[in-house]
Amino acid sequence: MEQNKSTQANTKKDLNWAELGFQYRPTDYRFRASFVNGQWTEGELITSEMISVHEGAPALHYAQQCFEGLKAQTAPDGRVLLFRPTLNAERMRQAATRLLIPEVPEELFIRGVEAAVRANYPWIPPHGSGAALYIRPMLIGVGENLGLKPAKEFEFRVFVSPVGPYYQSAGLAVISLAVSDLDRAAPSGTGNYKIGANYAGGLLATRLAQQLGANEALFLDAAQRRYIDEAGSANIVVAMRGGRFVTPSSSAVLPSVTRRSIMTLAENELGLTIEQRPIDLRKEIDEFEEVAACGTAAVVSPVGRIWLDSKWHSFYGGGEQAGPVMQKLYELLVGIQRGELADTYGWTHEVPLD
Ligand SMILES: *Cc1c(COP(=O)(O)O)cnc(C)c1O
Repeated sequence: MEQNKSTQANTKKDLNWAELGFQYRPTDYRFRASFVNGQWTEGELITSEMISVHEGAPALHYAQQCFEGLKAQTAPDGRVLLFRPTLNAERMRQAATRLLIPEVPEELFIRGVEAAVRANYPWIPPHGSGAALYIRPMLIGVGENLGLKPAKEFEFRVFVSPVGPYYQSAGLAVISLAVSDLDRAAPSGTGNYKIGANYAGGLLATRLAQQLGANEALFLDAAQRRYIDEAGSANIVVAMRGGRFVTPSSSAVLPSVTRRSIMTLAENELGLTIEQRPIDLRKEIDEFEEVAACGTAAVVSPVGRIWLDSKWHSFYGGGEQAGPVMQKLYELLVGIQRGELADTYGWTHEVPLD
């Protein structure tokens, strides 16, 4: 039972929280603000999950849109915590600038996220359930249009959905990746922004990877097809033999909040030597001790094997279980996010509940 939450509106939904997958589930409210006549409206909570847009809207034809993804989790004392949300706000501003979309100010971004979370309090999974409230801010170019040019009007919307693990499994899901023959993003393209335009082209790559028995595609750099870029929706980190902890540097990789946090934890809490540099997959794969895909949705998902040049390459324990480094990083990260461990880095952001 929740303490101090006796009103009907604040009663938790009767969901089987532990069984939730990573699926859309409609909640009661979403936040919406509009950019019209050169400025953002104050914003409001609405109930309809539908958006009515003009058939010519630039978001629909030319992918003039960007989005974000973050989670709210319940701490043992009932506080509702976001994880480093100002980094999501910053990343959305960068994407907007790249796409000639007016920036959503940090104040509006955080206020919209907090409002959507608070209004859907009954849908926030309780502490200990293993589930989280996934938050999807989005920014789309709307309004009448035909030619290739930026929209004049935009909508910023934040909806939420309670979710379970991205990869369903009893413990820490061990996944597999298949190196794709398709490219995700060009070196000076838009791979480092969270924009819809980067993802439609990856759907086929994911399908092909799954036909090989992998969970996801692994993309190499598009220029030389030699260095690791990232997976379809997650960055890659590698614990090398000898104690180095490496993540790719690439202009085409999405700057994952999860990955940046994991690198800090690997260095400060595990005492590993961290490196951000190009990883030459064929040259270095035999040095890989443990590999993981990481992101808000994937959290830290150990990678047991990678399909490369027509064969599988296995890592820690033949891919059956998480290795000690990734297991530890998962526990540290999730412990901080759920308010179970001391937040020594100041990474959590409490959502005011009234
Ligand atoms: C969202 C995303 C990630 C993960 O980023 P986080 O900020 O950790 O959620 C990684 N790669 C891609 C392509 C993504 O879209």
